[in-house]
Amino acid sequence: MKRRMLIAGGALAGLAGAGWALRGHAVAAVDRSLNRFALDPDAPQPDAEDLALHRALFIADLHADSLKWDRDLLSRSDYGHADLPRLQAGNTALQVFAMVTHSPVNLPWRDCLSASDPNHAAWLAALQGRPVRTTRGRAYFQMDLFWDTVLRSQDHDGPELRPILNASELLALIEARATGDTAIGGLLGLEGGHWIGLYRSEPGVIEAEVQALHDRGLRVFAPVHRFDNPLCGSSEGCRRYGLTPVGRRALREAEAAGMVIDLAHASEEAIREAAEMLREPFIVSHTGVRAVCEAPCRPDRNLSEDALRAVLDSGGVVGIGYWAHAVGAGVHNIPRVMAHVMEMADKRGLDPSAHVALGSDFDGSVATQISADELAVLTALLRRAGGGFDEQAIPRIMGRNVCRLFATRLPGGSPTMAERVEGALAAGFA
Ligand SMILES: [Zn+2]
Repeated sequence: MKRRMLIAGGALAGLAGAGWALRGHAVAAVDRSLNRFALDPDAPQPDAEDLALHRALFIADLHADSLKWDRDLLSRSDYGHADLPRLQAGNTALQVFAMVTHSPVNLPWRDCLSASDPNHAAWLAALQGRPVRTTRGRAYFQMDLFWDTVLRSQDHDGPELRPILNASELLALIEARATGDTAIGGLLGLEGGHWIGLYRSEPGVIEAEVQALHDRGLRVFAPVHRFDNPLCGSSEGCRRYGLTPVGRRALREAEAAGMVIDLAHASEEAIREAAEMLREPFIVSHTGVRAVCEAPCRPDRNLSEDALRAVLDSGGVVGIGYWAHAVGAGVHNIPRVMAHVMEMADKRGLDPSAHVALGSDFDGSVATQISADELAVLTALLRRAGGGFDEQAIPRIMGRNVCRLFATRLPGGSPTMAERVEGALAAGFA
């Protein structure tokens, strides 16, 4: 009897093991098929001067969704877009890791996305053994994963993942990297606070949710993703409303707590209303612009001229993406879109190159046209683009603009801190 039980137990364990292995293959297959990489054949090959400049830069990227996937960020993977070894190879110094928790599938018969559409993020969570039932659960799971990666990176070959929670830690990272430290700074970002205000919104509840995210380390707060939620209408939602009263409370709390407000994916009305309401500069972390958007670029997904003006007038920063739905097919569109933002800034009497940044959307279920480990292609592109892309503009676009904004906005941040950060960048980098 005992022996038979042992045999049955062994068979069950074997089946479970086989199931687990199959699951791993399925997750990898989904990851491979959704996070493709397709370098434009016309992309420039970086020469010695491009590489020398690229290695001398402090590079910051406003948006990667790598925490969504079951890949160990400490190990180099041969699929997906980004992990610490590949970010290091591409000389990225600071990366915002955003958390996607709900992504409706585009239904072919509709031209908008809704919360009730089939939800790819929930299927993926189920496949990966992550929290399935709530977006809040999925967000907190990804934050735990970030902190686990931070800890493990301290006792592991390869670059350390160093969390950036305040302006002093940003300054310390810049100073450390200037002396050869290979640590990569990581910030946690949220892509859609869908659960906030969904069931409860009495006084204090919304504020407590935002504060809890802050306490767990969240520093970049994007209220909405690709569908209208209780906080805010989305640029691809079916109703595309502005900020709701709950959304206003959440943004006010997030701004006061020293989080950077990210209006990527927000409806035009929401961006206009947020611009009126917010006191501090805000960002749009990963986008293209509608005025320079040729198919397969998706106009709704990207910034209208009014929305772009609103971000610039706040003193904020726009992260330009590398994938075709944001900028169109071909890497030469990346500087073209950046140049449009610079022209608009110039027309508004602003410093043209002070408001453009990188927003790769690595691992965001997009096919990027620049890879994390060969980011020098981007430096080569900008050097060859001419126009406003001069020696002063390139380091700003590649990272300094983000550092200045974070040094002002993060806890402990101020214009004085921004000056110290600028000084450290000038002393240690191109
Ligand atoms: Zn996104």
